[in-house]
Amino acid sequence: MSGDMIKIIIGLDDTDSRDGMCTTYLGALIADELSSSCEQAGDLLLVRLNPTIPYKTRGNASVAISVECHDPTRVIGHVISRIASFARMDCENTNPGVVFVLGDDFDGVKPELDEFFRRAVRDVITIDEAKAVAGKLGLTYRAFKNGRGLIGALAACGAMLNPGWDHTYEYLTYRKKEMWGTPRFVDSESLYEADNCTYPETWDSVDRVNKIVVCVPRSPDPVLFGIRGNSRQAVTEAVGIVRSEEIERSCIYRTNQGTDMHLIHAAGVDDVHGMHSYILEGIVETVAHTIKGGHSIFVLSDDWGKTIDCAAFEPTKNFRDVVRRLIPGDRVIVYGSVMDGTFNIEKINILSLAEVSEKRNPECPSCGKRMKSAGAEQGYRCRKCGTTAQVPETVCLERTIAVGFYEVPSCARRHLAKPLIRFKTPDTPLFPGR
Ligand code: ATP
Repeated sequence: MSGDMIKIIIGLDDTDSRDGMCTTYLGALIADELSSSCEQAGDLLLVRLNPTIPYKTRGNASVAISVECHDPTRVIGHVISRIASFARMDCENTNPGVVFVLGDDFDGVKPELDEFFRRAVRDVITIDEAKAVAGKLGLTYRAFKNGRGLIGALAACGAMLNPGWDHTYEYLTYRKKEMWGTPRFVDSESLYEADNCTYPETWDSVDRVNKIVVCVPRSPDPVLFGIRGNSRQAVTEAVGIVRSEEIERSCIYRTNQGTDMHLIHAAGVDDVHGMHSYILEGIVETVAHTIKGGHSIFVLSDDWGKTIDCAAFEPTKNFRDVVRRLIPGDRVIVYGSVMDGTFNIEKINILSLAEVSEKRNPECPSCGKRMKSAGAEQGYRCRKCGTTAQVPETVCLERTIAVGFYEVPSCARRHLAKPLIRFKTPDTPLFPGR
């Protein structure tokens, strides 16, 4: 690294619409373009923010790039011009934001942007708050249209400045421009093969239970497919096995996907608010009922008797069978987000199961046969031996579910949700959905 190079962190967000583009593509493109005049100074980052935010296009992603360069003004100008020409400005919901943090400012802005990043993953932030933070910290930024993208852009810079969070990797491949919007060709068999060779170091490429390819999007954006995993090595190995149409470019992002970073520990139902995601312990109060659309819902009660509806929605497919086997008295911890007063379950840890018993006529101690009723309120009598008993026998029935951790299948997993295969809990049985 030469002495007069200046380090610069670039955070960007909100460039896409449902009709096309993807902020991760723009991040990869800009990183590639800058590589001719700058040195990459750290991993490319893809951070997922609060998954309940209604303005999101799909997965509430934002991107950060870190480079060292001689001419930051030129870099800033180039990035802004690429956003201006690639972002879907015509879409009402596309409000790009880009933030530049220059090396000299790092120490001064680090703690505040770290806090901002963590809040953006768990909480709801206003555009005014974001503008106030960027202004107070004296950052160079550009907010297009209503500037909402500034929230994600600042958060991404915070993530780059404070890299100590749990992380995974995603290897993203992008299509040639002339193919955007046309059906994708990614050979399914090769994806199953890649999964076979690299699972559990990679995950969510395919959903074996529901027979669905998960890692190839269906929307008209530039992404061809993305492989998620624990290391660069694992995702690279998997991509090497995949057969597909020609790839225009690709990149490996370091990401907070699969880390549960969005979850907040809630002491009880009173702590739980809409548009936030929680870990909440309680007792099952009712058996799940299934409503129109196939969503299964049960009532959970906390230790103070406060209740909340917990749902396994239809897209969670076979996970609903787990929820449907719960009965009142089961103690569980639910993981998921709250929307419109309902807890949308991503994972459940069944801590203990209520006992289910059945009353049966007692056995005769002499011949071992079941006694018959001796008449109303007269107990039981063995017809053969004449032995009697006053009370019936109580028999514990086996439950159809076991204590342990269960999760939604790959096809329904949220980007931020930590897959059970990443859990290190030797004392808790894990039932990963693959
Ligand atoms: P894609 O993942 O496909 O690139 P997206 O799902 O990331 O798209 P965006 O188009 O980026 O969706 O829209 C999300 C918007 O919400 C952005 O403007 C972002 O700044 C904003 N946002 C992100 N996190 C929060 C938050 N915690 N509070 C308020 N706004 C947020």
